[in-house]
Amino acid sequence: MLEVNAVPALSDNYIWIVATGDSKHVAVVDPGEAEPVADHLAQHGLKVGAYLITHHHGDHVGGLKTLLAEHPAPVYGPAAEADRIGGLDHRLTGGDRFTLDFLGAAFEVIDVPGHTLGHIAYATEGVLLAGDALFRAGCGRVFEGTHEQMQRSLARLKALPDDTRVYGGHEYTQKNLAFAKIVDPGNTAIDAAIEHVDALRGQGRPSLPGLLAEEKRINPFLRWDDDDVRAAASRRAGRELNDPGEIFGVLRDWKDAI
Ligand code: ZN
Ligand code: FE
Repeated sequence: MLEVNAVPALSDNYIWIVATGDSKHVAVVDPGEAEPVADHLAQHGLKVGAYLITHHHGDHVGGLKTLLAEHPAPVYGPAAEADRIGGLDHRLTGGDRFTLDFLGAAFEVIDVPGHTLGHIAYATEGVLLAGDALFRAGCGRVFEGTHEQMQRSLARLKALPDDTRVYGGHEYTQKNLAFAKIVDPGNTAIDAAIEHVDALRGQGRPSLPGLLAEEKRINPFLRWDDDDVRAAASRRAGRELNDPGEIFGVLRDWKDAI
């Protein structure tokens, strides 16, 4: 069974540390900053077995060079962003599979363009390392791709098993839930999530991971096929919407405007 631990970094990033009880070696996901990772490794007597990168943004790769100097290990990341990231040993695209022997775990690579064009996610054993594609109750901004592309990316993630735990790259959950409530005010699953997340944050704990089964009930960016969400997006657009990409796009623009 994999353990995934959060190392908070920068203002609201999480660097995920994937471990097993059986090994001192861990995988470090999206090291946006070196020092908190180095501290975590020292504190727990851990060694880096691999670095997994989801996309090229500085808050996900900014600590990589410094960490590699002290903790050399193979770097996995998106082939399409290899030049911008630098130092990739394994250039990945959707459908690729690889095993990290030190974790005894097989990973599947999923293409999730939209936030960036080369963005990938990693799925293994009920764990989704989603980068800035999917957050708890929200999703990443669409910086490089189109709304249609991002919606198709999220549809791929939505198709994973319900018991998948989703580890996104940022602690945005309270703001995401506030927006979810605006879109879908009658949804009591959102109220329950707000209560739960407020309690976690009140204790200084991460609100992540989300559980995919819950995301399907509360995350407006996965709910283009829900009647209430579609109606809310249609009201916002001032016309009847049916296309998933369009519904997603209206919701994304709506959130960006708040
Ligand atoms: Zn990003
Ligand atoms: Fe980010």
